[in-house]
Amino acid sequence: MVPPSFLGYSPPASKKIQSLILESCDNPLRLLAIGARTSPGDCNRHTPDSIDFLVGVENLNKVVFFDKNSGEICIESGATIKEVSSFLSSSGWGLKVLPSSNSISIGGAVSADVFGFNHPSQGSFSDSIRALSFLGADGLMKEIQKGDPLFLSVCGGYGLMGIIQYVTLSLRRTPSPFICVDTFRLSSLREMLKVLETSSFEFKKGTIDFNSLSMSVSHGDLCTHGTSLSLSDKLLLKIDTKIKSFSSSKATSSLMPALKDAYTDLSPNKRIILFSSFAHPQEYSSSNLIHFHFSLPFSGAEENLSLIFDTIKASGKSPIRDVDIRVLGKENSCFLSFPSPGFSVNIRFPYEKHKSPLFSKLSSLVTSFSGRVYLAKDLYSSEEDIVLQYPKCSNFQIFRSFREWGDCDVGPKNVFASSFSSRLNL
Ligand SMILES: Cc1cc2nc3c(=O)[nH]c(=O)nc-3n(C[C@H](O)[C@H](O)[C@H](O)COP(=O)(O)OP(=O)(O)OC[C@H]3O[C@@H](n4cnc5c(N)ncnc54)[C@H](O)[C@@H]3O)c2cc1C
Repeated sequence: MVPPSFLGYSPPASKKIQSLILESCDNPLRLLAIGARTSPGDCNRHTPDSIDFLVGVENLNKVVFFDKNSGEICIESGATIKEVSSFLSSSGWGLKVLPSSNSISIGGAVSADVFGFNHPSQGSFSDSIRALSFLGADGLMKEIQKGDPLFLSVCGGYGLMGIIQYVTLSLRRTPSPFICVDTFRLSSLREMLKVLETSSFEFKKGTIDFNSLSMSVSHGDLCTHGTSLSLSDKLLLKIDTKIKSFSSSKATSSLMPALKDAYTDLSPNKRIILFSSFAHPQEYSSSNLIHFHFSLPFSGAEENLSLIFDTIKASGKSPIRDVDIRVLGKENSCFLSFPSPGFSVNIRFPYEKHKSPLFSKLSSLVTSFSGRVYLAKDLYSSEEDIVLQYPKCSNFQIFRSFREWGDCDVGPKNVFASSFSSRLNL
């Protein structure tokens, strides 16, 4: 068994990869692009002997252009969310969609079509993409715009259509680095799901302690200097102590006079905190966990989630840490994109080497509830379940089967592969 070689991808190497693909016509090379390699699923892994080259894009990490008037940015795919956010930090613009880990790469964000705590209002990552370029199975660079049919298979395509090089995104205005957030406890699952579904705030997250079943919701909007500090808010705000240590930053010092006014008459629930600490909580940073991350439609969610909890309890396994619940809005057209209207639920377990039957059983339960498992984190679902959970999966398979290059029998299916594509026959 020969382990795959590692190829660092940067524009000169892309020429090398192109020629390797073109020269290996009769017996195509097998490649897999990897970003920050944080996915807990098997989409960034390969089966023994199945891959010739792992293609790392970490050197592709530059901002190609940024237009501060229109809020458009073009970034190389190896840049991380953290690097891009820090580049934009004093520009008044920010990414529309932020996953809870900021160490992931832009290529990984496109490939899993990631989503944040504001899916109902901003959609998923691909909804903010204007155009992207990638190296296809024919060894040629392709530039595609939103609306191009290929776009639907590359975004949420888990690296199985090619190696993404540049991504052009539209940004959102971010008037301050703070969020005004309200956190409160709830006594029943029904109440919690109802608050999450009906709350009109942009950012919403629910947390359930699996053992004690205590629950809380945090929701809020980004602070704007004018609106978030209205008179009524000033009477309610509780200022997070962390804010003081950031008082030297430009944005904070202009906010400080208004914030100081708000020290009086505080409500225990409302706080102003740095948006980054809300969007990327520390607790999400650890790796080496099994994530069982799935969605459930709004209808029947309470009963179905209770049944999933009961199944986990009956198995004797204990999730670690809190269960994360988010609201998902409209589905987009990308074939393997995860979000669809309902709730996203992420339950994390200690890592174990041997496959537990629990996770396949849970995946089948999710299928029977018309939900879906998040493929970026999946390790154990069966092809049968995924085909039912993702009705547009057959469109993806059609795009994967295209023969792209003249007389040569190559297409994405011959060139790009992973453990994930073998397991699910994609
Ligand atoms: C702690 C934690 C928190 C998370 N929170 C969220 C969240 O809030 N929301 C959410 O939606 N997801 C979340 N995820 C999932 C994560 O965002 C995705 O798994 C993402 O794809 C990881 O990006 P990466 O750069 O680490 O990619 P990798 O793990 O390296 O690869 C992931 C996939 O992307 C492909 N890929 C990577 N780069 C390229 C490229 N340049 N060209 C083509 N294909 C490429 C790979 O082939 C692979 O299929 C979380 C994951 C973790 C570990």
